[in-house]
Amino acid sequence: MQNVTVVGAGIMGSGIAHSAALGGCTVALVDVSADQLAKARESIARNMQGGVKRGKLTQEAMDAALDRIAFLHDLPAAASQAAIVIEAAPEDLAIKLQLFVELDRLCPAETILASNTSAKSITEMAAVTGRADRVIGMHFFNPVHIMRLVELVRGLETSDEVYERAEKLCRKMGKETVQVTESPGFVTSRINALIGNEAFHMLQEGVASARDIDKALKLGLNHPMGPFELVDLVGLDTRLAVLEHLHASFGERFRPSPLLVKYVKAGRLGRKVGRGVYDYRGGELFGP
Ligand code: NAD
Repeated sequence: MQNVTVVGAGIMGSGIAHSAALGGCTVALVDVSADQLAKARESIARNMQGGVKRGKLTQEAMDAALDRIAFLHDLPAAASQAAIVIEAAPEDLAIKLQLFVELDRLCPAETILASNTSAKSITEMAAVTGRADRVIGMHFFNPVHIMRLVELVRGLETSDEVYERAEKLCRKMGKETVQVTESPGFVTSRINALIGNEAFHMLQEGVASARDIDKALKLGLNHPMGPFELVDLVGLDTRLAVLEHLHASFGERFRPSPLLVKYVKAGRLGRKVGRGVYDYRGGELFGP
């Protein structure tokens, strides 16, 4: 499992490439946007440098890991060499299905096709390929180089061999795994979306300020981050896409909060654009 191709060099794809390279894999990180590839290279180097400063890895290990990552536009070239492809494109089923059709055509027959989707159906992605038994969900967490869990999601036809190989890759990357039988939102996104949505309802109702809701969950319920700090990190657009999917699957209890929808319409997508529930522009954090 040396050659890992990661498709999508955004928040998650760059983190997955970082962890795979540190785990000793040769990595191709592919994106349609040159700008995004440049940003990914910068953020991986910055995050690894942080690890060197904290004494988590040596400068030599960092340099060797960076050398193992190729930043590419060329999906066909990367796919033809891949033992596994981990798709980390936006949370839009149409984009993912199109990518899976393409990957199935471009990759060798034995290549495993994995998706980092937060909530969508692995079985549906598998069904557009000619290798449903070699398709699996690998749900990493943000920031990938720090968070230890990967939810391994079995589609209807995922084989035991593919599950075991994905688990082995996760261990190489220093991750713990849980096994999940496919269901919308798996374990973590389903619970997290509900908590995060309720926080937006409370903010809209004027129950407490964003800062105090965050503080209450951190100090009163021992959550490491408040729900608004977390959604700003995840991306409000990504969270809305997950909620819309869960709403369609499970009904009313997952209807997206109107305030969340309004923030997304306003372009307040979170840290990645400098502004979400909080404002990060100017290096200082302002709350509503
Ligand atoms: P993002 O918007 O930061 O990055 C997506 C990247 O995919 C962009 O760089 C975009 O240019 C690229 N892209 C779009 N179409 C492409 C294509 N056809 N080929 C190659 N690249 C393409 O998104 P993200 O937050 O990294 O999320 C990616 C996936 O990971 C989503 O499915 C999301 O639900 C999931 N996820 C996100 C988080 C999170 O906290 N953000 C956590 C777990 C899982």
